[in-house]
Amino acid sequence: MRIVIDMGHTPTSPGASGYLDELECDRKIGERVIAELQRRGHTVYNSTAPDWMAYPDEVNHRVNYTNSLDNIDLFVSLHLNAGGGHGTEVLYFAGDSDGAWYASQISKNVANAFGVTNRGAKPNDWVGVICNTYPTAVLIEYLFVDSWDDKCAWDATSWDAIVGATCDGIEGRDWNGEAPSPQPQPQPEPKPAPSDDVRYRVSIDPYGNEWCDEMVGSFDTGSAGDDYAGVLGHPIVWFSCDAPVYRVYTEDGRWLDPVYQYNPNDLVNGTAGDGSPIKLIEISADNIKYQVHTVAGDWLPWMVGNHDTAGSSDTFAGNYTNIDAIRMGYTDAWQEPQPEPEPTQEPEPQEDEKVSLLKKLIALFEKILEFFK
Ligand SMILES: [Zn+2]
Repeated sequence: MRIVIDMGHTPTSPGASGYLDELECDRKIGERVIAELQRRGHTVYNSTAPDWMAYPDEVNHRVNYTNSLDNIDLFVSLHLNAGGGHGTEVLYFAGDSDGAWYASQISKNVANAFGVTNRGAKPNDWVGVICNTYPTAVLIEYLFVDSWDDKCAWDATSWDAIVGATCDGIEGRDWNGEAPSPQPQPQPEPKPAPSDDVRYRVSIDPYGNEWCDEMVGSFDTGSAGDDYAGVLGHPIVWFSCDAPVYRVYTEDGRWLDPVYQYNPNDLVNGTAGDGSPIKLIEISADNIKYQVHTVAGDWLPWMVGNHDTAGSSDTFAGNYTNIDAIRMGYTDAWQEPQPEPEPTQEPEPQEDEKVSLLKKLIALFEKILEFFK
């Protein structure tokens, strides 16, 4: 087949974002779909506009580029949806029966791969890239960026599934992979959660209804498999941990009342936060170490209880900017999940090296004394 792949939007006009970022997801999917279609022997054109191009020029570019090509079998635009829904849908130019067929095939496959609702093929008569392009055209809305369930489906689904489902649909075939979400792939050797480390959770949902998976020390009990709580790039707005006392400082510019319990279901007594971005976190327990990551920056130095390991005299973690991740653990239980290779250490100076250094110093000292004689 001769196929045009169109990774919707540009960094200058970046599309929708929420729990997921449309542009980022589109690009990641697009690169992999193009590679897979080429591997399968198709001729693939990439109509994506240059990064600097803004709407509506970027849309016109994609349309004009596509219309300059001959004998294209299918134009496929990659997008994510927004606006309060859930699942996968695929738009096609209203009245184009080939488009309707490809759209329903792709939508079914992709929804299966993610384990989400199949909203199906949807006729459309106003979206530029499918209405103004000459070839049969479809526009995939993979998931909703503002749906927590869809974000979890994204996290839980392999690239093989996403790309396989898309490419099989483009070829007009049913995706033959297994649905990943309802039956997660068994891990080869699941690492057991340490039962004796600190439990903590964060939420990026202003209403505190949706929470990231519970962490136990450096162990993620969910599917993310990372060693911190949070979603990078998204400010934490609620924080709960199994420490004797902890508190947070939020966008309001003040410390909220201390919290003495771990209970994400209780936003009043078991959780610190007010639904706005958290900028500082203070945990008062000398046997707990913790570290925060900021939206704008990097991991800040570890705190041990109220003591800053970097030598700063403050009693909390944070630098008054939005925090998007935290990791913590008991000081005696914490295990680095993937210990970095030991840096090659400077060898300790040998004893005779030390002696010779001392001799040089003495000689220098004698010369100085000589000078003053
Ligand atoms: Zn879009």
